[in-house]
Amino acid sequence: MNHDYHHLLFALLFLIVLTGCNESADRETTDPNRAALLVYNADIWAGQGEPAASALLVNADGTIAAIGSDTAAWSDDIDGRTERLDANGEFLMPGFIEGHAHFSGLGSSLRNLNFLRSRSWEEIVAMVEERAEDTPEGVWITGRGWHQEKWDKPHDHSIGGYPLHDALSEITPDHPVVLRHASGHALFANEKAMELAGVSRETPDPRGGRILRDEVGDPTGVFEERAMDLISDAYQNFIQKMSPVERKDEWLAGIREAQDECLRNGITSFQDAGTRYQELDWYKELDASDSLRLNLWVMLRHGYDDMAGNMEGLPHYGDRFECSAIKTELDGALGSYGAWLLEPYFDNPGFVGQNTTLVATVDSIAQLADEHGMQLCVHAIGDRANRETLDVMAKYVDSTDDKRWRIEHSQHIDPADIPRFAELGVIASMQGIHCTSDALFAETRLGTERAREGAYPWRSLLDAGAVVTNGTDAPVEDVDPIESFYASVTRKRADGKATFFPEQSMTREEALHSYTAAPAYAAFQEDERGTLAPGMQADFVILSKNLRDCAEEEILETEVVATYVGGELAYGR
Ligand SMILES: [Zn+2]
Repeated sequence: MNHDYHHLLFALLFLIVLTGCNESADRETTDPNRAALLVYNADIWAGQGEPAASALLVNADGTIAAIGSDTAAWSDDIDGRTERLDANGEFLMPGFIEGHAHFSGLGSSLRNLNFLRSRSWEEIVAMVEERAEDTPEGVWITGRGWHQEKWDKPHDHSIGGYPLHDALSEITPDHPVVLRHASGHALFANEKAMELAGVSRETPDPRGGRILRDEVGDPTGVFEERAMDLISDAYQNFIQKMSPVERKDEWLAGIREAQDECLRNGITSFQDAGTRYQELDWYKELDASDSLRLNLWVMLRHGYDDMAGNMEGLPHYGDRFECSAIKTELDGALGSYGAWLLEPYFDNPGFVGQNTTLVATVDSIAQLADEHGMQLCVHAIGDRANRETLDVMAKYVDSTDDKRWRIEHSQHIDPADIPRFAELGVIASMQGIHCTSDALFAETRLGTERAREGAYPWRSLLDAGAVVTNGTDAPVEDVDPIESFYASVTRKRADGKATFFPEQSMTREEALHSYTAAPAYAAFQEDERGTLAPGMQADFVILSKNLRDCAEEEILETEVVATYVGGELAYGR
């Protein structure tokens, strides 16, 4: 400690002792209304319906003191200690709220290999080889996000469109390897993993799953749907051998990476679509020790029996952490024919998809949510699943109450059911990026007419008065909100390979709303975040382009310059 400072401190202490509780000194250090940060020279979009502004004043407690273009009236509040930030005329808006994704899943995907951007099987094998070099023998190598239909060319050594395991197994004789498909509905295992799982030519296909085989019946490495359990169980055996401390450390390391990744992408709030009880406790601990650097709102996800007698302490409202919703699901995904449809698949006649949770069970979970004042969030992709969900919800909600139950994905909806979202006050929790990601096969699965009328029908839902939120379902997709925003306003793939019924696009303003105030509303947080106004949390982001009016081709070039959570810089380029 330097000498002058020492003297100053002593003098200050003396003064406090002398005057008892010195009020002005006290206020100077702890006054929550002290002007802590002035942002000026910004091009501010404060939220739908909010006036344009160029400056923002933030209180020491992280809330917004004032916003506007004429800062003369603020001069009394601003003093020498107020930090000043010149935004250089750049675009400033409320921080993005990721409306549906998986926080710890994103974390582990960042710690494991990620193939979302891989363009060939050779590239993936090379990434595994590199990872194997610094992974101890016997430790599993895991990754996800590969998709054979997104590679530059079909693999020439393949069965059923998938590569064979030999090249991968050759370079990893001592490491079990499991690589999950981007859809989450298939995985790739190497020889070591299959050996540990006890899988051989003799292993039969389990019910509801398929082991891909070569012409002599040997497994090729690909396991679909329930057959994935064979490999997953072997992996879980390995995980279970870790100590509880090791497991928690690994989770925590993932959470830290997920936080960094979100803040880098301008995300200041994250809505998690599936938290287990164990994680609930860990998140509470992080919140209590002020270790959460963004706001986290989570849906509890377990089977009915696990939750029914175990609702104590719920809903939970913490500082930056909240659990006030329950998640369940009625069907699977469209790509793997899991979406539950009213009429058979166009490219799979006679098959209507999978009903993954009995409607009666979803009804029991709805009752549980209702009894405990929790929001209900139901995963529904196909039009049958959406209709069944609306039917269940209609038993518990009507236009007079304000439960804000949500349908996660609301992906394919029969036109007759579209008005029911607004009528029942049910929120359509959608993901812009899923539309363009699925564009390569959605029309094949549904046929042109059904795809046009009811697939990713944002425009129809908004016109019918529904609240539509946005997100990415990361790690299924990259968590980047800019890509999902681009998909929302153009319905074009970033690689230019397809445009999916552009008449259903959102306007720029609607898409910004779907990423800010709409998801805040969908979590009962619209009085705290989602818009920039006095009294709201100072969660905002500065971007290199103005998303309201930049040229369409500039949207994807947009970079996050800075991310502020509660008035504090959480990421700076
Ligand atoms: Zn999800």
